Amino acid sequence: MAKKNDYYEVLGVTRDVSEKDLKKAYRKLAMKYHPDRDTSDKTLEEKFKEAKEAYEVLSDPEKRNVYDQLGHAGVEGVRSGAGTRGFNFNEVFGEMGEVFGDIFGGRSSQSNQRPQRGADLRYTLELNLESALHGTAVEIRVPRLALCKSCAGTGVRKGNKPILCKTCAGEGQVRIQQGFFTIQQTCPECHGRGDIIKDPCPDCRGQGQVQEAKTLSVKIPAGIDEGNRIRLSGEGEAGTRGAPAGDLYVQVHLRPHALFKREGNNLYSDVPINFATAILGGEIEVPTLTGVVKLHIPAETQSGKILRLRGKGVPGRPGASGDLLCRVFVETPVNLSKDQKDLVQKLEDQLSEKSSILQNQVEGHRYSTSSQPSTANHYPQSKRWLEAMRTFFTKQS
Ligand SMILES: [Zn+2]
Ligand SMILES: [Zn+2]
Repeated sequence: MAKKNDYYEVLGVTRDVSEKDLKKAYRKLAMKYHPDRDTSDKTLEEKFKEAKEAYEVLSDPEKRNVYDQLGHAGVEGVRSGAGTRGFNFNEVFGEMGEVFGDIFGGRSSQSNQRPQRGADLRYTLELNLESALHGTAVEIRVPRLALCKSCAGTGVRKGNKPILCKTCAGEGQVRIQQGFFTIQQTCPECHGRGDIIKDPCPDCRGQGQVQEAKTLSVKIPAGIDEGNRIRLSGEGEAGTRGAPAGDLYVQVHLRPHALFKREGNNLYSDVPINFATAILGGEIEVPTLTGVVKLHIPAETQSGKILRLRGKGVPGRPGASGDLLCRVFVETPVNLSKDQKDLVQKLEDQLSEKSSILQNQVEGHRYSTSSQPSTANHYPQSKRWLEAMRTFFTKQS
């Protein structure tokens, strides 16, 4: 399917547009793209369709809310019925009548009484990492339009039958002469149903659908990942007049974990180490999904080094589990006493003394560097960096 334009842009309105101005904007476009003007112009029809779809979504507070949050994907099921019915001008005329005349004032979908598959719904399910990795079962509460049980979706009070509409003889549409044109229009008597409900079902007021919040149990398979969707067939909104219900898509969103970040089968964990361990090496304890394990820190470990714990990542088939990748960083000690600071200074003086034969003056900062590679060099990275800097400034002058 082609990429859709933003609904607000289609109607030429701002995102905070009022209901009234929205209607006004649509009315203007509907006049402009009126398919009656030139039926051979297919772009006109396309534009009309686009504007109509945008208005259908934005004029419904619920759908507009979903669209604002999720974009087209959130309301993708809204037009699912359109594909099977096809687009025709009669339907447009029928709905335009509503917009122009404010006859019903309600949801535009209510004027369309032909069978229509229910809308697909999306439910975002927040999961913690453990549940996603090991699988779980959750109960979710989904507000939706459901089939009215009292009338089984017919809209007619129990024991009664709908009466065939005499105006359109059950066709749902009538032809009227308007100037040079004969226009087919949705039957004003039955609003396209083809039959008339004299005694509407009291529970759904003849709509055949009621708003309900259903609790569903959803099984989450082990290993589910961010963005994965579980489809619950037929658990979306009820269809109208016997049409099938839409589907419910449960989309997984992983809550951030305090210790682990998942990437595919691997888990990443940031692990702080103190500077003594970084220099001398040692063993520290790190958390895994299954408990605490010992991690060997090699001597002279730098910040950013990644240490791999094989098989401690996302559990999988034997031999196929992911790894836990510990990204260590050296934590600078804080809140030092005067004595402690003196000790650190003493150590640093010693480390710099042996290697600092040359004191460099670069942009007012003092850097120590070695001009003799044979002497002990405690700061190989600083050395490389200084050399690169020197080359850089030499080239410039
Ligand atoms: Zn009912
Ligand atoms: Zn009729």
